[in-house]
Amino acid sequence: QDIPVESHTDVLIIGAGPSGLMAAYWMARCGVKARVIDKRSTKVFVGHADGLRPRTLELFDSMGFQHRVLHEGSISTEANFWVPGESGKLTRKGPFNISRVDESPYHNTRLNQGRIERFILDSIQEYSDLEVERDVLAESLEYDQNLGKDPDSYPITVKLRNQGEEASNVPCGQSQSGSGITRNELKHHDLLPDDWDDQAQQRNRKSKVEIVKAKYLIGCDGAHSWTRKQLDIPVEGSNTDHIWGVIDVLPISDFPDIRRVSIVSNTAGTILIIPRERGLVRFYVPVHVCEASSTTRFDRSTITPEVIRTRIQAILSPFTFDFQACSWWTVYQVGQRIASKFTKEDRIFLAGDAVHTHSPKMGLGMNMSMQDGFNVGWKIALAVAGTGKPEILATYDLERHPLAEMLLDFDRHWSPMFTDQKPPGEKATKAAAMFDIAGKFEDFADGWKVFYPGSCLVCKPGSEAVARYIVPGERLKPVKLRHQAEGGTKWTTRLLESDGRFRILVLAGDIRNPMQKGRLETLCQVFAGQFTSKQSPLDRYVSIPGRYDSPIDVLTIHSAPWKEAEFFDFPEILRPFDPVRGWAYDKVWCDDSCIFDRYCDGTAYEKWGVDWVLGALVIVRPDQYIGWVGELGDVDEMTEYLDNILVRK
Ligand code: FAD
Repeated sequence: QDIPVESHTDVLIIGAGPSGLMAAYWMARCGVKARVIDKRSTKVFVGHADGLRPRTLELFDSMGFQHRVLHEGSISTEANFWVPGESGKLTRKGPFNISRVDESPYHNTRLNQGRIERFILDSIQEYSDLEVERDVLAESLEYDQNLGKDPDSYPITVKLRNQGEEASNVPCGQSQSGSGITRNELKHHDLLPDDWDDQAQQRNRKSKVEIVKAKYLIGCDGAHSWTRKQLDIPVEGSNTDHIWGVIDVLPISDFPDIRRVSIVSNTAGTILIIPRERGLVRFYVPVHVCEASSTTRFDRSTITPEVIRTRIQAILSPFTFDFQACSWWTVYQVGQRIASKFTKEDRIFLAGDAVHTHSPKMGLGMNMSMQDGFNVGWKIALAVAGTGKPEILATYDLERHPLAEMLLDFDRHWSPMFTDQKPPGEKATKAAAMFDIAGKFEDFADGWKVFYPGSCLVCKPGSEAVARYIVPGERLKPVKLRHQAEGGTKWTTRLLESDGRFRILVLAGDIRNPMQKGRLETLCQVFAGQFTSKQSPLDRYVSIPGRYDSPIDVLTIHSAPWKEAEFFDFPEILRPFDPVRGWAYDKVWCDDSCIFDRYCDGTAYEKWGVDWVLGALVIVRPDQYIGWVGELGDVDEMTEYLDNILVRK
């Protein structure tokens, strides 16, 4: 008989996939007491999701591990279509550009989900001792509505079962259908050394039951979300009628674009070819259409790597195709579904596949899921820390639900393109139609725009005159700036580190202009609390305990030529002194060009639509979305924005 132990935690995260780990990152960064459980015995190692959109990479940069993705991943900036030409032979249409150099330093990149999980896990360990508890299954969930209104209460009770040694231990590298890959083969052929320890993890614990009381719960438990079912939150949508095979192989082929993103379409069907890291190529292959009238369930075990291989050979013909090495494969049916809501009373939240599923061929599920976890994570972390007001939690559903709707809308347009069987003559038009759809959804898919609506976190009206392209509710467009003290350069995606703090960007303008210098000095006097009637906004809010004295960080970016300004020209409050660390040299940046770095071209103010002389005042949220924009003199309005979301001392 199990005798349950009882424990308390501030935040419980169920599921350590991409969305759960992103949420866990914030708990680690903000020093929040949290637990992350997963029923699997190991992390993912091979296969699964692999497409990373540029916005996700920007977030990784703010988390400090984007360089690892760049180092290992495979980048694509163009895509090709192959359709039968006049002679009936497959002919290339393209290349079509799928990257926007003016928008981001990053491009569509492929690296398997397991490596991304590795990087987030490493980042979590850098800041805390939070570890994923594996082989732990959530078994029951109770929510006490009466306690929900008190932020310090524990209204959530979850029964956890540590599955112990007796449970089956299937490594996540294997497909559900069984690819015949053994653990040792995985280790030698597919794992990088920093994954070896996870793969070798032995379970030596006994089966154990625990009752956990939590203040907040985040259900990141995937498409069949147990948490969502406990809450009885309905999902809308249905399965499509197509069964797909997906396979990662080292291809042996004379097809010219085997290492380029390509869609190949002929009378035999349409496949998607995705080049990946370490010489791998992924193929998405339609393998079966379920008849609407059929009453029997399709037997997926009839699909094998050999069946997928034969399909690819038929569609790529007359080009040759074969493989000896297969890293991962699986069979799936696309379900297009969305949950009716993403939260229960802002104490229990659902993120990722738990609330939206769609076709993997858009390369968006992992991206959207991580961005969900990222969005909800910092809000919960600040609320638990006592720094953020609980009201900010209501913005999670408000911001992420409409995006999930857009995701499904994109999929409803995009997926049928792979399955409709128009005659070959119409295929060229199909290529155009596909790029038309991709173009329409590009801003959304690549993450340039998120369309977060007005809320306590997004102060919408009236900022266009000050900063035309710094739009509340959108991301700050990345630019490269010069370090005033050193002269080196950095992208804003790295500069605006995801550490839990709001950032005031003082766009100081041209400080050579005496009037502008005066405005900056007045602003700094308010910041320093020199006006007795006004408390400094920098010293007004509750700290992030154990992390930062203030939940607000200030960065100055001026527009005078780098050589004509000095670090010490700026008031001390913008470059504070610490008795141990000295002056804060990394707080003052310059929008000027730099001879050794062509990306640092002195166009930040122009790209942001800010007046070169007058500058602006901007608040960037901890997740790098714009919260508020005003003039240097608008400190009262800025403080009002902050008062609505942060707890005053
Ligand atoms: P998951 O990754 O499903 O993680 C959920 C976790 O919760 C699991 O680890 C599970 O073990 C755990 N769990 C579930 N129930 C419980 C419970 N009761 N107790 C404890 N733990 C539990 N997306 C992209 O962005 N780009 C791509 O290129 C891409 N390609 C894909 C290719 C394929 C073939 C597939 C199948 C998917 C692809 N996706 C892609 C989608 C992507 O994999 C998912 O959207 C993403 O993994 C969702 O992340 P998640 O954290 O929400 O859920």
